[in-house]
Amino acid sequence: MKTSRSEALFARAQALIPGGVNSPVRAFRSVGGVPRFIERGEGSRIFDADGNSYIDYVGSWGPLLLGHRPKPVMDALREALERGTSFGAPTEGEVELAELISQVVPSMEMLRLVNSGTEATMSALRLARGFTGRDLTVKFEGCYHGHVDSLLVKAGSGMATLGIADTAGVPKGFAETTLALPYNSISAAEQAFAERGGQIAAVIVEPVVGNMGCVPPAPGFLEALRELTARHSALLIFDEVMTGFRVALGGAQQRFGIKPDLTTLGKIIGGGLPIAAYGGRAEIMRKVAPLGPVYQAGTLSGNPLSVAAGLATLRYLVAHPELYEQLEARAAALTAWTPPGTTINRVGAMFTFFFSPDPVTDWDSAKKCDTARFGKFFHFMLERGVYPAPSQFEAAFLSTAHSEEDIRYTVAAAREFFGA
Ligand SMILES: *Cc1c(COP(=O)(O)O)cnc(C)c1O
Repeated sequence: MKTSRSEALFARAQALIPGGVNSPVRAFRSVGGVPRFIERGEGSRIFDADGNSYIDYVGSWGPLLLGHRPKPVMDALREALERGTSFGAPTEGEVELAELISQVVPSMEMLRLVNSGTEATMSALRLARGFTGRDLTVKFEGCYHGHVDSLLVKAGSGMATLGIADTAGVPKGFAETTLALPYNSISAAEQAFAERGGQIAAVIVEPVVGNMGCVPPAPGFLEALRELTARHSALLIFDEVMTGFRVALGGAQQRFGIKPDLTTLGKIIGGGLPIAAYGGRAEIMRKVAPLGPVYQAGTLSGNPLSVAAGLATLRYLVAHPELYEQLEARAAALTAWTPPGTTINRVGAMFTFFFSPDPVTDWDSAKKCDTARFGKFFHFMLERGVYPAPSQFEAAFLSTAHSEEDIRYTVAAAREFFGA
């Protein structure tokens, strides 16, 4: 496979951009080799600067549920472009997007649009503190909630990939406002509340983890968090930046029937453009400025292009609920076979092949994976035109553009790797 153009671009990039990338996991650090510079995408495929094509299982790390360049989104963007790119004043589209989100995710009685998942979780956390008058946050090891200072404690995603437990640059005082507990451990959560319940502003959780690879909640775990937070007057924040509109139209809260106090969304709600949201109970959201004392703002918040792409995506999903059945069936076909020495976790259209024979239920079990073998698998697939996430600790994403033929081809390539 020819990679000379990607190599040349990577050399130029590394001279100016740390690691040659604008987000760490893109650098292929844990798997080695040259990151492919992508030129364009179409449906389930991406094409790199050397003209190689790949079936894409990254989907821009989650947003592209409809694949690359879906017609409804392209049409909406073209139309929006004609009207201007940003006004710094309210637009009708923002109201329509807020109405649509609130209708599909009813726990979000009110919501605010921001520009990234990081901004959404950061703002939700500030709001939780402002509302409760408390400072402590409970998070779970291996969960990633964006690069918010106080949440970069035992975080997943790139931190897990690069083996960075706690980032430099976060003041000790910030880190001390976070209690990091093992995911899926009801007893650890009970103990934290027994000891410090009166100080805990919020529990923030990925209701299905994607950022240490895909790890589903154990039966009763989310229910226990709901009960504990309610009993101690702390808020339950579901970080659905990844799971929103992916594991079900109404996200994990619909799939598992739990109503959080606050929810963060991102990724799919922008259809590939930068946008995110936080929202929840009206009583809490009314504390946000200009209604209340919790300040949060943004020059490009509710950007008309992002809103147009997001609205087109969500309207298409609402109009085609059968797509979730298709996603479920194709993702099931892709993960129907467990290769020797691996464990597969899947929830809807997100899944991970863990290179460990044992169940993966939390960060301690995830980190036992054979990451060297994963790296070999990654490059084997890449050579055959299949692009998995370049890290063991990320979820793979299926889009509605992945055909049965894509799935068959991918399974055949994987079987070849495992010598089956
Ligand atoms: C991606 C992600 C974020 C961060 O979103 P950005 O847009 O990258 O800032 C936060 N939480 C979860 C669960 C995510 O998957």
